Amino acid sequence: MKLLFLGTRGEIEARTRRHRMHSSLLVSYGSARVMVDCGLDWLGKFEQVRPRAIVLTHAHPDHAWGLKNGAPCPVYAPEKTWQTLQLYPIKKRLLIKERTPTKISDIMFEAFPVEHSILAPAVGYNVSAGRARIFYAPDLIFIHDRAAALKDVRLYIGDGATLTRSFVRKRGKRLIGHAPVRTQLAWCKKERVPQAIITHCGSEIVSGDERRLLARLRAMDTGTGLQARIAYDGMELILR
Ligand SMILES: [Zn+2]
Ligand SMILES: [Zn+2]
Repeated sequence: MKLLFLGTRGEIEARTRRHRMHSSLLVSYGSARVMVDCGLDWLGKFEQVRPRAIVLTHAHPDHAWGLKNGAPCPVYAPEKTWQTLQLYPIKKRLLIKERTPTKISDIMFEAFPVEHSILAPAVGYNVSAGRARIFYAPDLIFIHDRAAALKDVRLYIGDGATLTRSFVRKRGKRLIGHAPVRTQLAWCKKERVPQAIITHCGSEIVSGDERRLLARLRAMDTGTGLQARIAYDGMELILR
């Protein structure tokens, strides 16, 4: 399985050469090429990526608004995301049912509900091909069924909106926002996920000194052997 981080920027003003485009991941396996998320930065540009299919985590601007003018390939999304994108001129709309493994051009995707937003309910994807298995959740406060979502996962790709500060707000009884990286690394340790990569970078990462940030990340995973890295636009990775 090959991973290409097409974009690693969250919903913020700042952008740099390393974090220029809204978060998106291209997953390839054999001739399969699936793009996960297509935010506003990708409007008029994602066609150059030539994905065979696009899969969406949720309907927020930095994840779905690149599809405002439609798409030349099939688009997969959960029911709640399609409800929000009703007016988009997307011809091939396919439903991805939560907790039901779905084969998309030779790559398996299973959507796990995550807490993040009331207006744009989100999922994270357990993605597998060959012997490689990853979990991709660019926006989340927590995973509802974390143990199942991270079972046998070798690489967790998570939400870089904030490193240690709380980004969680209360809306009635529900929570919205983002879990700090520190919390997500703790999940990885609990579920024995050996590697983590942080994407969907917030201003703390985008405007910060990445060497210093990496030192802080390393300090968070002392003693467990968990490897944590920060993704950048164009970063490639091969999982065997
Ligand atoms: Zn986002
Ligand atoms: Zn979001």
